[in-house]
Amino acid sequence: MVDGSETTERCVVHKRQGQDGGDAAWRGVQKKLRDFYGSAIYDSWLSALVYSGNENGRVVLLVPTRFIKEWILVHYLERILKYWQEESDAVYSVDICVSDGAGMQPQVAGHPDGAVDGSPVVVVGGTYDHLSSPLDPRFTFDNFVVGKPNELAFAAARRVAESSAPIPGSNPLFLYGGVGLGKTHLMHAIAWYILNSSVKRKIAYLSAEKFMYQYVTALRSKDIMLFKEQFRSVDILMVDDVQFISGKDSTQEEFFHTFNALIDQNKQLVISADRSPSDLDGVEDRIKSRLGWGLVADINETTFELRLGILQLKIEKMGVHVPNEVLEFLAKNIKSNIRELEGALNKVVAHSSLVGSSVTIESASGILSDLLRANHRLVTVGMIQKKVAEFFGIKLEDMYSARRLRALARPRQVAMYLAKRLTQKSLPDIGKSFGGRITQRSSMP
Ligand code: ADP
Ligand code: MG
Repeated sequence: MVDGSETTERCVVHKRQGQDGGDAAWRGVQKKLRDFYGSAIYDSWLSALVYSGNENGRVVLLVPTRFIKEWILVHYLERILKYWQEESDAVYSVDICVSDGAGMQPQVAGHPDGAVDGSPVVVVGGTYDHLSSPLDPRFTFDNFVVGKPNELAFAAARRVAESSAPIPGSNPLFLYGGVGLGKTHLMHAIAWYILNSSVKRKIAYLSAEKFMYQYVTALRSKDIMLFKEQFRSVDILMVDDVQFISGKDSTQEEFFHTFNALIDQNKQLVISADRSPSDLDGVEDRIKSRLGWGLVADINETTFELRLGILQLKIEKMGVHVPNEVLEFLAKNIKSNIRELEGALNKVVAHSSLVGSSVTIESASGILSDLLRANHRLVTVGMIQKKVAEFFGIKLEDMYSARRLRALARPRQVAMYLAKRLTQKSLPDIGKSFGGRITQRSSMP
């Protein structure tokens, strides 16, 4: 019998019988499990199991937390029983019990972290601060201007924020689009909305980089169980810029487990990336396909109307006056991304307040001459990558793939250098377009 249900009695009754020969059998089972599942899964999940004893064919294994117990019941118990039966045909069941360190612990219904089901525990800004990244107070739904390029992403984000449970077909919500088009803004807006609403749900928002960093730190400090538990106890997990996870195998594995665990428990996930799930190079196929299971919403390049709308909202919030013709001039000429557009507006407004004169098209074009020139040239990182790839005779994907062949290093460096010179992108943004691997050592000649 493979039975996940466990009464307190089933766990408490058991007494360790020292000479039951079970230790050797358990070692045999462990070896088979490791061989079958591989060390990544084994170390993540199965290494947590401790053999307690075998009472007349009922084997009891202990785990440190309720969450791990549930995960093992769902995913691995059947095979654990099978392998036990191969070691000893007298075994008829395997029970998984949560250990309190000394013995057995009765199960209490509720959140794995001990909170009673449904109790308001907010991750962001609360006791889980270390998990989450800070939220920008400006990034709310109210401050987000909706237009054709982002209406799907906006509507989806809004629905996730408003509904108390994941919406079928929208989990995960995968937002993707180029740099500076509003992905982070929408994720923060979801978090703010929930934080300000009366229904408290636990939210964790963090960049994929932070997720990896936390994972590696947990590995080092041997706190991996705590790591898993924390992430898996949230109601909404939002991971920004997952293209950075590419290539880092064990982090991918962990991300995938966390991801699966949350979806299985009907928790909402929101993911962002600078490209669609299928274009995430260096990410395993099964992860890519799972990421694309829910709603994939892209944010397209901005239109003139959207850019103008954003500028109008911004000056309203700033409480300054900028003539409409100047706003139109900016919206027409700065097309690269919204971050740059905002930067341009700030610059113009700051300048005019310093010199004490109102903004005109002439003064704006003088102040922004570099930026305007770059926007007019209309050279994009994508165009540079394509040309450089052609010149060196390599595939375009190799510009941003996880492959690290020496032959690819030079073309990538050249393309990065040109991107820095010919576009207005910042180094980190350029890095993102190259699969996120730019470092201080990616020398700019
Ligand atoms: P991404 O995460 O896609 O790179 P961000 O969310 O950081 O981009 O957005 C860059 C800047 O542009 C932010 O200051 C953000 O507030 C602003 N922004 C992006 N889209 C919009 C929008 N639709 N309305 C208002 N501001 C926006
Ligand atoms: Mg972002």
